[in-house]
Amino acid sequence: ASALVWLRRDLRCHDHAALYHALRRFERVYCVFVFDTDILDALLTRCDRRVEFIHASVCALDEDLRALAARSGAPGGGLIVRHGTAVQCIVQLARSLGVREVLANRDYEPAALARDRRVADGLAACGIAFSDYKDQVLLEQGEVLNQLGQPYSVFTPYKRTWLQKLDAFQTKPYPVERHAHHLAVPPAGERLPTLADLGFVATNLADLQLPVGSRGAQQLLQDFLPHMAAYKLARDFPGRKGVSYLSVHLRFGTVSIRQLASLAARQAAQGCEGAQTWLSELAWRDFYFMILWHHPHVVTQAFRPEYDRVQWDDAPEYWQAWCAARTGYPLVDAAMRQLLQTGYMHNRLRMVVASFLTKDLGIDWRRGERFFAQHLNDYDLAANNGGWQWAASTGCDAQPWFRIFNPVAQSQKFDPDGRFIRRYLPELACVPDKHLHFPASMKPLELQACGLRLGIDYPLPVVDHASARERTLMRFHFLGRGR
Ligand code: FAD
Repeated sequence: ASALVWLRRDLRCHDHAALYHALRRFERVYCVFVFDTDILDALLTRCDRRVEFIHASVCALDEDLRALAARSGAPGGGLIVRHGTAVQCIVQLARSLGVREVLANRDYEPAALARDRRVADGLAACGIAFSDYKDQVLLEQGEVLNQLGQPYSVFTPYKRTWLQKLDAFQTKPYPVERHAHHLAVPPAGERLPTLADLGFVATNLADLQLPVGSRGAQQLLQDFLPHMAAYKLARDFPGRKGVSYLSVHLRFGTVSIRQLASLAARQAAQGCEGAQTWLSELAWRDFYFMILWHHPHVVTQAFRPEYDRVQWDDAPEYWQAWCAARTGYPLVDAAMRQLLQTGYMHNRLRMVVASFLTKDLGIDWRRGERFFAQHLNDYDLAANNGGWQWAASTGCDAQPWFRIFNPVAQSQKFDPDGRFIRRYLPELACVPDKHLHFPASMKPLELQACGLRLGIDYPLPVVDHASARERTLMRFHFLGRGR
């Protein structure tokens, strides 16, 4: 009997739950990836770095599957690629291949769950089974519960239980290679579409030298390993190499979360604090997937309903200044330029710009969340929504609304020598360190000395932080402090 493995956000062929189960249970196993027009055509522009990343990773996966089959001495391997709606493509292909079952790794987003239900129904109507497996997360929604058997909404106790449950079994790799001789030869005439076939144009992905596919992920991991020990301290400084940059690979599954967790857990067990902190970040990732699963209303509403009574401002000028990296606050602007130019933004900066949008500019977190969704390479509904609601103080275990980031103090603390700011705001290169975090504080003679024309070369601040802070305290005041 044969089966079809449908790959989605799991673009690798090692340590892969659905692929392993299919190869173990079936004689012939086909693999397919669908460029889903419900996503590509409905939600994205024609020039999207993520589509190019996926396309390159899909091509790499095709080669990896062939190589995997060849190593096992089988004639098979290779990826079937389709372009259309998921329901049509998967049902048609499953029928034409005559498979008994379609297997996939589980998705947790409401839209993906609805899509999977439609596919499962379509397959069932043809007598074909659909099954899904845990792969994307370490511990799922039902696996980390409190003593009453309920999901957590506060991270620290969640993490405690998460760490207790995260044993060697949970991080053990799926030995796909053991059964790789069951990989089937794709039907004759199959060919991978080009980016242009999909209706997309190239982005600056190649210039960014962002490594793609599972080999790219392993390269980034190797780069990061020597830095893991220092992660606890270094991770907050965007100007230094302190973080892994693996998020885009976790997003598209070109790396296995189990591989990362087992590496970190081993070093953490030997007392490496950096590894302990990094493992906590992987716990945050699971935490937000779990929140999204149990509380799908967060997609459009505040986690805490009372926070939807906060009156946000429309403020089109502020909004445009934030989007265009022209707020007059250098750390905020440099962060937004990093996002616009590379599709990545450092975690500390995501917190700073999200706080700035919601607490300084008084703009609804949902607008910032959507902007990130358009621009982040690693955009992930669960983590992005969690991050925005945390920063806006509307989420579970969010920062209290009366604690408001000061964008200048954040800049002085986390980019003390201005290395990051100067990288993305070359127009401020000549500004002395002590003024770099807030050039608007310079006196006319100081401005003249460094040749900066405020309001021309670099914008004046769109708001005064102290007054904006007062307005935010008023805006949230009706909620009281007792949370
Ligand atoms: P590292 O510091 O090396 O961390 C390793 C991995 O842990 C990350 O790749 C990520 O998968 C996970 N992780 C780290 N921090 C968090 C966190 N706070 N929440 C959930 N997972 C985390 N992360 C996304 O993957 N996609 C998003 O769309 C996203 N949007 C965010 C929006 C806001 C407003 C905020 C504050 C955070 C957001 N994050 C998001 C979380 C975090 O900023 C990124 O995961 C991190 O910056 C990615 O860089 P890295 O891979 O170098 O991280």
